[in-house]
Amino acid sequence: MIERIPSRGIPNMPSIILPVLCCFALTGTAAEPSDEREGLMEEVRRDIATLPEMLDEERLDPRVDEAMSRVPRHEFVPPEARDRAYANRPLPIGHGQTISQPLIVALMTDLLNIDGDSRVFELGTGSGYQAAVLAEIAAEVYTVEIIPELGQRARETLQDLGYDNVTVKVGDGYHGWPDHAPFDAIIVTAAGDHIPPPLIRQLKPGGHMVIPVGNRYATQQLMVVTKEEDGSVRTRSVLPVRFVPITGGH
Ligand code: SAH
Repeated sequence: MIERIPSRGIPNMPSIILPVLCCFALTGTAAEPSDEREGLMEEVRRDIATLPEMLDEERLDPRVDEAMSRVPRHEFVPPEARDRAYANRPLPIGHGQTISQPLIVALMTDLLNIDGDSRVFELGTGSGYQAAVLAEIAAEVYTVEIIPELGQRARETLQDLGYDNVTVKVGDGYHGWPDHAPFDAIIVTAAGDHIPPPLIRQLKPGGHMVIPVGNRYATQQLMVVTKEEDGSVRTRSVLPVRFVPITGGH
């Protein structure tokens, strides 16, 4: 008969493994953020591969992939949500608002088609996470948040992390930011029932705007709005999505 060594609650576990497990339990209670981020990116890449008709290519633009692999999402979420920072989910950031799901951030950033020369406008700073992803790729990012506490916090987070090519303003982003227009790309991270005309005006010919459009209480359509070189506007629906509403007095 083989004698079993009592295994402290783990049935049939050879005793030699226990010290190793204990060691992990003592020293490695949480994975490194960079490892968790890589795990998240693998999930995002897999999900993107199932949506080939959404993008020009079957995979994420390597610039977007690299940007998202670098941005520390855990720095943009409140302390009580940090353990979920690298789940592929939206998370609450206070004031009834959310940081978008990483898959959606990846998809929207890819659809903007930006590069190192781009000047980008964002309506809806929220946590500042999307702005940081944009700032990893673009030359300049201008972002507007209507809730002062969120705008202020995002500004501090972005400053602390050294994103000095992002400028945050507290105000109503419906009107864009005429002083810095025109923009090569515009991203709207809250939903409205129409495309704000000031944003169309502030988009450069050849540029793209990505925006969720639809009823604030239902599913919206993620749309890509392209301004042609002759100034005409073309729209395409990409995916049903759910965003918090655009607020403000317009
Ligand atoms: N991009 C954000 C998520 C945004 S959630 C991130 O990465 O965390 C949408 C944000 O849009 C909310 O913070 C909301 O307050 C803001 N918002 C809603 N209407 C707005 C408006 N008219 N102008 C500027 N910001 C607005």
